[in-house]
Amino acid sequence: VKLVTFTAGADPRIGVLHDGGSVTDLSADPDLPLEMVGFVELGAAGLDAAARVVGAVDPLPHDAVRLLAPIRPRSNVMAIGRNYVEHAKEFTASGFDAPGAATIPDHPIIFTKANTSIIGPGDEIDIAFDGTGTCDYEGELGVVLGPGGLHIARDAAAHHVYGYTTINDMTVRELQRRHVQFFLGKSPATFCPMGPCIVTADEIDDIERCWVRTTVNGEERQAAPVADLIFDIPTLIETISSAVRFEAGDVIATGTPAGVGAGFDPPRFLAAGDVVEVSIDGLGTLRNPVV
Ligand code: MG
Repeated sequence: VKLVTFTAGADPRIGVLHDGGSVTDLSADPDLPLEMVGFVELGAAGLDAAARVVGAVDPLPHDAVRLLAPIRPRSNVMAIGRNYVEHAKEFTASGFDAPGAATIPDHPIIFTKANTSIIGPGDEIDIAFDGTGTCDYEGELGVVLGPGGLHIARDAAAHHVYGYTTINDMTVRELQRRHVQFFLGKSPATFCPMGPCIVTADEIDDIERCWVRTTVNGEERQAAPVADLIFDIPTLIETISSAVRFEAGDVIATGTPAGVGAGFDPPRFLAAGDVVEVSIDGLGTLRNPVV
């Protein structure tokens, strides 16, 4: 099932997205929460209740709803650096890397993005504050955690994957370089576009066979299958949960393929008027204008 957070002129609420863009408003069941983290916490019981609402209530037409970011996790968005080989090479060559960093890491590189940076499909990415001219896109698969937990073994990781979404891990490269730690360059307001929906894990046959594609103004910049991840999703869940307790609704951005703006010579950073689209097979397209 495809889950969305949306507004139809009133307060945000959650719904089920159908082919063609109509949305069933789950607030028809007063026992269901109005926001996605609470719904994810319900697990299968929530999805069963959603199916009953879908069977009982007419959906809202596509043009009556505006989709918002599907989820705002309680914690920051967790993200993985340098998790595709060709991107790791282009990042080393770009000069924006930390001095002395290994090109191919021995262990996952884990950082976070402020959850206040999350925006939804169609929302504007605001780069007006940036005086460095180094704003860059990173199309990525996002994993939404269902049951939380600590010390999750990779064999058990699939039980903790609630679903998938699409993320643009926007970055100010110069801030990333200056401040060494990634947090500041990754966290400006509007720098975590997400959506349009969460697709539950049961709906994807094999996530590793899905491709991540990014275009800027219609020109393809990034294209790679999830199978190219250096550290796969079970490894990421095992590694993070070896130290950090996951909560339901936490999100992991799994890393970006080659083809970011910093990887070109000369670099091709974003400018006002650009439009970035990130598409993942089965998850739809996340489209955001840059202002
Ligand atoms: Mg990234």
